[in-house]
Amino acid sequence: MTNKTTYDALVLYSAGLDSLLAARVLEAQGLRVKCLHFVSPFFGHPGRVKGWRATYGLDIDIVNIGDAYIDMMRKGPRYGFGKLFNPCVDCKIIMIEHARALMPRYGATFIATGEVVGQRPMSQRRDAMNSIRNETTSEDILLRPLCALILDPTPMELSGLVDRERLYGFSGRGRNEQLRLAAEFGITDIPTPGGGCKLTESASACRYAPVFQHHPTATAQDFHLANVGRQYWSGAHWLSIGRDQRSNEMIERNITPGDLVFSLRDFPGPLALGRQVAGDWSDDAVADAAAFVASFSPKARKAETDIAVAVRHGETTRDVVVRPSRETALGWKETSWDDAVPVRNAMDPHNH
Ligand code: SF4
Repeated sequence: MTNKTTYDALVLYSAGLDSLLAARVLEAQGLRVKCLHFVSPFFGHPGRVKGWRATYGLDIDIVNIGDAYIDMMRKGPRYGFGKLFNPCVDCKIIMIEHARALMPRYGATFIATGEVVGQRPMSQRRDAMNSIRNETTSEDILLRPLCALILDPTPMELSGLVDRERLYGFSGRGRNEQLRLAAEFGITDIPTPGGGCKLTESASACRYAPVFQHHPTATAQDFHLANVGRQYWSGAHWLSIGRDQRSNEMIERNITPGDLVFSLRDFPGPLALGRQVAGDWSDDAVADAAAFVASFSPKARKAETDIAVAVRHGETTRDVVVRPSRETALGWKETSWDDAVPVRNAMDPHNH
């Protein structure tokens, strides 16, 4: 990322309507705006950035904060979690901190967000917004163009760099004012509400809890794997099983050197990956996982006989002969929200 152009503002661009409008409001004043789209295993759509550049004419860069984000989660988000695994206040803080660190690279003088006072229960309450500003020590460089008129003027407004009169005073959860402003800007392709953050989805939260619980050194790559296919655990034994061709391909792409890769020799069936997060699996555990994986092949199950499962580990592949079974000694289980809650609560400093 080398930039000859310098920018006035870095906008935290989630691709939701509010961040799009924040960028447009500043551009309409003639300010030079660079949008930063933050990505991690939990949020962000790097594959869509090209389309957004074309649709909205924005100048967008992708910033990957996956590992730093996981580190923040593991240490325990200071402002706690929302309903699920979403640490929204800390999330905003970490993004603003990253943006702040990138300011010299872009020659930017301030950071802007599409936050609207009172719009979100956790991170856009006025007190939370103050915490975000104070924590990032960005009080002098953080502008919220959509609700600036109901906040104190920032130095950017006081200095005349930003025309306060062309900012807005939106508040609350409604979207009518935003939609009106979008119409004024001629935006016809309105992004749908909700940024698709997986940390706010219970199904995804259940995928992440056992990774946090059993894999203390998990990286973004581990959480990318947790997003794929079916996720089964037995203690610290972790098995990801493809659901369809697409997830099989994603599993293939997620293979790392220590992984065990299961595939059926003579029957159509899923690709599965055993990630050895707490030491090598015993032969019994490998055979148990093989029998479980084989049970996801209807044809292998119907054969009602022992079948061969190829187990690849690095350069070596061996066949394990098993009877397909869903009921194995290891008792593979998908994590329920009831199982996930204690993990989340143990990570939340507010519960200590
Ligand atoms: S919903 Fe997700 S991306 Fe949005 S602030 Fe909360 S944790 Fe961050």
